[in-house]
Amino acid sequence: MPYRNLSVKLNLYRQTRGSIMNTPLPKVILHEHIEGSVTPETALVLAKKHNVSLPDDFLYPEGAYDKDAFPNGRYQYDETDFGAFVTAYDVVADLVRDADDYYLIMKDYLLRNAQQGMIYCEMITSAFHLCYQEDAQGKVLLNADKYHDFMDAIERAINEVKEEYGTETRLQACGVRHLSREHLDLSADFIAKNPRKMVTGFNIAGNEMAGEFEDFIYVHELIDNIPLPKSYHAGEIRGPESIRDALAFGAKRIGHGIAAIKDDELIEKLIRDNITLEVAPTSNRILVTEFEQTLDNHPLRRLYEKGVRLSVNTDDAGLFGTDVGKEYHIAATVFGFSRVELLDVTLCALEAAFVSDDIKHDMIMSTYDVFTDQDWQDLEIHAANLPDGALKTRLQSRVKNKP
Ligand SMILES: [Zn+2]
Repeated sequence: MPYRNLSVKLNLYRQTRGSIMNTPLPKVILHEHIEGSVTPETALVLAKKHNVSLPDDFLYPEGAYDKDAFPNGRYQYDETDFGAFVTAYDVVADLVRDADDYYLIMKDYLLRNAQQGMIYCEMITSAFHLCYQEDAQGKVLLNADKYHDFMDAIERAINEVKEEYGTETRLQACGVRHLSREHLDLSADFIAKNPRKMVTGFNIAGNEMAGEFEDFIYVHELIDNIPLPKSYHAGEIRGPESIRDALAFGAKRIGHGIAAIKDDELIEKLIRDNITLEVAPTSNRILVTEFEQTLDNHPLRRLYEKGVRLSVNTDDAGLFGTDVGKEYHIAATVFGFSRVELLDVTLCALEAAFVSDDIKHDMIMSTYDVFTDQDWQDLEIHAANLPDGALKTRLQSRVKNKP
């Protein structure tokens, strides 16, 4: 029945247009790094405050970029040059220095994204960025007083945005793999000794080419004993074997994980074990060389159609000039996700959230509350028309278990 399929598709497309960027579609971010969230506008505020003179070519001048696409300004680094991105990132991260700065950038990210419909966010923090210090002998220390002071400020911003918009936010602690195994061990020890109620997950981030997951056994075990659930960056730059390794050491979610598309057996494992990928299309377009700066060959849609659970993410929203609305909009317009598919993406993200069961349940129910009769009908027809497989099974079970 090809004509019927076509009319369903067009109908879904019409409903998708115009509603993606707006609040009626609840959205979730599981993967954003706090220092990477700083927009050009906020970077200028921080540079002025700390008397830092920025490089001349740090930002595009007014008029040299599309203000609608980059409402908060645009960093001027060569998107084809990974080194240039890292340099820009370091300049921005160095502007964030005290508790007030962390309050400012956390509040700015959450407000911007809450206004675009974000109902839940996990923000990745790194003790090394927050409170690295060297003693008189040059020995590396993490300063606990500073850490708690900064985390208090971050949590104050979280609570204020929750008060205003109802947005729930949790934090992940993270170890940076390219700093060396000793640094990662130190981070994990520090996290174990300095628990925070809002830190509900652990991440390994940083350059994926540096070290192997098996080098960090001390860290995997220590974090399991706290216990904190783990999301590891893998399969962004490296291949499927990196994802397999992350899973072998207990990761429940994978940061990026796009290389899974190259390995059907791995995809089956992701589906079987309910692993969720935190995909970040704009970040991947800029940083993953094999995409050559376009999303033409990006596997977001193919992974979804195979039934892999995934969420869409901002990763370093400020540096990449993106936000939650833009990533959902890209999913809709570039990858053809319909409104009900995006609602399914939001539900998959919530189901994988590192948050208590009662809050998770409430957020899932409030997302189902957004479903209109038309959405339920669209979902049922869409699921019925899919070929047998994991996606069909998941969507049909959503219809069957309609709350
Ligand atoms: Zn990341």
